Amino acid sequence: MAALAALPAIPAIPAHADDAPLFEAVRAADMRVAGIGWRLATANARLCDRIEAGTGLQLHTLDQFDANARESARAHFKFAAPVAVEGVITGSPADAAGLRADDSLVRVGTVDIAALPGKPGTTDRLVAAQLAIAALPTDAPIAIEAIRAGAPIRMTLQPVRACKSRFELELNDGFSASADGAMVQIGSGFLDDYPDDQLAAVIAHEFAHNILHHRDRLEARGVDYGLLSGFGANVKYFRQTEIQADLLSVYLLANADYPARASVAFWKHFGPSKAGGILRSRSHPAWRDRVATLEAEAAKVETLSARPAVPGLIADRDKPLDGDWQSILVRSR
Ligand SMILES: [Zn+2]
Repeated sequence: MAALAALPAIPAIPAHADDAPLFEAVRAADMRVAGIGWRLATANARLCDRIEAGTGLQLHTLDQFDANARESARAHFKFAAPVAVEGVITGSPADAAGLRADDSLVRVGTVDIAALPGKPGTTDRLVAAQLAIAALPTDAPIAIEAIRAGAPIRMTLQPVRACKSRFELELNDGFSASADGAMVQIGSGFLDDYPDDQLAAVIAHEFAHNILHHRDRLEARGVDYGLLSGFGANVKYFRQTEIQADLLSVYLLANADYPARASVAFWKHFGPSKAGGILRSRSHPAWRDRVATLEAEAAKVETLSARPAVPGLIADRDKPLDGDWQSILVRSR
C-alpha cells in the first residue's frame, strides 16, 4: 500500500548517537509527525469506527536505542523507567494535565507501564505501552504516576476520543509512506522537504487507507502485495483504494483545519520529481490525474460548511471493493 518509493529502513537510532543535538533533532522530528497525527486523529474521530483514548503523549523507550547509545540516551532523556514521555502535544489532554517531556511513566490508568515486557534493541515495550493506553476507556479520567527529576509525581488526564492509529517516523531520509491498517509510517525525507500542510497531506492519505479498512478489503479480494501489486487483476483494486485514499484525505485535512488543497500543492512538487517509476504508475494513477481528482474534491469540500465533513466513502467502507476506479478518477486536461 506504499504510495511512494519504499526504501529499506536503517536502524531507527544511529549506533553512536551520544550527542545531544542528534537526540533533540530526532525528538523534534518525532513531535512534528505526532502533532500532525494528533490533529488529524482527533478532528476526524467521527469518521473512525476504531476509537482510542487520545492523550497527546508521545512516548519512547530506552529499549529502542542501540546498545552503544543506550546509556547516553538514558542520561539525556532522564529515563527513570523503561518508558518515558518523549514529548507532549501542545493543547492536548496530557499538556493540560501537566505532563512534560522526560517524565518517566510508572502507571497510566490501569496499565503498569514500568512492568510491561520489553527487549533491548526493539520497540516492543513502546508499542505495548501505546496499545495499552489506547485501549483505556475514552470517557473516564486516567490517573498517572510518573517520575520527574527523581521524584514521584501524580496527575489526572481527561482523554478525548481519537481515531485509533499510531503515527511513526522512519529515520531513513527516504520518501516512503505506508499504512498497515493500524499504523501510519512516514520517511524522514518528507520532513526536510515539505512544510507541515503538505506533510499532513501525505500522512492524511496513508491514514485514509486505515480509516477505510483498505488492507482488510484488499486481502478479502486475495490481492498480492509487493512487486506484483502493479500487475494483473489486482491493479483495479489497488487503484480504487489509492483514489479513495486521495479523496478521503481532502476531508481529513479540511476537518483538521489544514488547507483542503494541501495535497494538490504536495503533488505538484513531488509528482514531477519523484513519481515517474513505471511500477508505481501501474498501481497508482498518474500524478497529474491525482492532482485533478484532488482539486475537484477540494472544490466540493470547500462548499461544505459542516465540520467534520463526512464523505459517502465512510458509509461504504465495509462493502467489498468493486475495482471501479475509472468512475472516481478525474482526468487532467
Ligand atoms: Zn496509498
